[in-house]
Amino acid sequence: MVRFTVLASGSKGNCTVISGGNTRILVDAGLSCRELFRRMRLVNEDPATLDAIIITHEHSDHVAGLAVTARKLGIPVYFTEGTHRAWVRWLSPRKQMTYTQWLEQCRKQAAARMAEADAATVEECDPEDGEASAELTTAETAELVPAKAAKDPTSLPSVQFFQAGKPLQIGDILVSSFTIPHDAADPVGFVFQAEGVRMAVATDLGYIPPNVKAQLKGVDLLLLESNHDLEMLRDGPYPWSVKQRVLSRVGHLSNEAASTYLETEYDGQAAYVILGHLSESNNLPELARIAAERALLGRASLLCNHLLLAEQHEPMTTICF
Ligand SMILES: [Zn+2]
Ligand SMILES: [Zn+2]
Repeated sequence: MVRFTVLASGSKGNCTVISGGNTRILVDAGLSCRELFRRMRLVNEDPATLDAIIITHEHSDHVAGLAVTARKLGIPVYFTEGTHRAWVRWLSPRKQMTYTQWLEQCRKQAAARMAEADAATVEECDPEDGEASAELTTAETAELVPAKAAKDPTSLPSVQFFQAGKPLQIGDILVSSFTIPHDAADPVGFVFQAEGVRMAVATDLGYIPPNVKAQLKGVDLLLLESNHDLEMLRDGPYPWSVKQRVLSRVGHLSNEAASTYLETEYDGQAAYVILGHLSESNNLPELARIAAERALLGRASLLCNHLLLAEQHEPMTTICF
């Protein structure tokens, strides 16, 4: 059975579990490890059965719990090289090592760990393990990382690189990645395919360019950003510079842009359309829902699409195929 569960969606943390065949992948790890495990258990997913973590981009709401979670589970993390490089810089801003030297050090550490050949056991997250909160700024995080993890907060059991646009197989799940317009080093969206079911994750994008539209065709499930209401953002509390960033071509998708896409170009194939990454300051769930509902209702052929909203503070009900 194929399962798709959004554990969290929004600027305070993003994380989704996708299961297909015998494989389970975590998409982003923007919650603390403890909270991530708690939410997985709430939806009857066992963290110990995760096979890999794959990352869309290095913003803290997508990676805040990454290192601790990967180390606890002893599973590989898939990044693009640009995202990995940016993530390493973010966590070790004062490091003198070059990126090449750092990669070499990681290889040696991985070889040493394999030599030890300890069976990985999943335990409760250790709060001493240097976990950063999604709310913290980069500077605050660097200060708060305890001594033990500060030695190398970027240490991971295994790093696997992929290139945007090149398909990749993780166990029973085929992963297609595509470049998205967002102000990160090398941000991507994904289409996951398992047992003939295709599920797209497309959040954190300033607009929907042709390459993304092409990828979103023929999916059975679409997680689409519906970040802000334009009027609420314009009149809201953010400083002008932040408003400009959100509104820019590399910012976030508005309710209006998402619904325009649904009304005009979306092919209507998805049994489930999930609106995600809703801003808590510049949006209301009802506004996002109404905009998307209007867009879908305008097209009689789409009445069988289920429209759902992903939440920040609790997991969504699991969608099963
Ligand atoms: Zn982002
Ligand atoms: Zn984000």
